[in-house]
Amino acid sequence: MIPFEYPEHPLVRRPGPQGYRQPASFRPWLRDEFSFRCVYCLRREQWDRATSLDVEHFLPSRRFPNQRLAYENLWFACSRCNSAKGDRLIDDPSQALLSHEVIVENDGQIVGRSAEARRIIQALRLNSAEAIHYRRLWIEIIAMAKQFAPDLLLELMGFPEDLPDLSQLRPPGGNTRPEGVAASHHARRRRGELPATY
Ligand SMILES: [Zn+2]
Repeated sequence: MIPFEYPEHPLVRRPGPQGYRQPASFRPWLRDEFSFRCVYCLRREQWDRATSLDVEHFLPSRRFPNQRLAYENLWFACSRCNSAKGDRLIDDPSQALLSHEVIVENDGQIVGRSAEARRIIQALRLNSAEAIHYRRLWIEIIAMAKQFAPDLLLELMGFPEDLPDLSQLRPPGGNTRPEGVAASHHARRRRGELPATY
C-alpha cells in the first residue's frame, strides 16, 4: 500500500451516463470511476475533504464546447491540477500515468519513464517545490500511520464511507454501459469484494 502508486492498467471507462445538463451532475459517476482521487497527482478525498476534487474537462470546454457534457471527456481532478492544466491540450493521463511509467521517490520527486509521462509532469508542474513537498509529507504521514496508528491508516488509505450508489442514479439519457454499475465501489462493497485499503 503506497500513497502515490499509479494504476497498473490504462483506464477503460466502465459506465456511460448520458444526458445531464450540467457537468457537476456527473460527479458521483466520476468519483467512483476515478477511485476518489485526482487522475493526475493521486491526491485523495480521504486526505483532505476541504480540498475540492471535481469534474475536469480533458478537452477544455472553452475550446471544445460540444465536449462539455460528453462523459468520456470528463475526468476527476484536484483544483491544483485543474488550474495548472488550464485550457491546454495534454497527453492522456489514463494511458500515460501508469505504475510502470511513473515512479514517486520517497523524497516526493516524481519521475516519468516515458516521453508522454514526462510531458504531463511538466505541463502540470508535478515537480514544483509545492507538489514535491505535498507528496513527501503524505509519504511520511502514511509511513507513520502504518507503524503507529492502524485506524488512521485505514481512514487515510481506505475508501470513503459515502460511496455513490450508481444503481440508484437515473441519468436523463440513460447509461450506455449499464453493466459497468456492477463494478462500482458501492456494488463491490455490498458483495464484500472491496479491499480495506487501496
Ligand atoms: Zn491533482
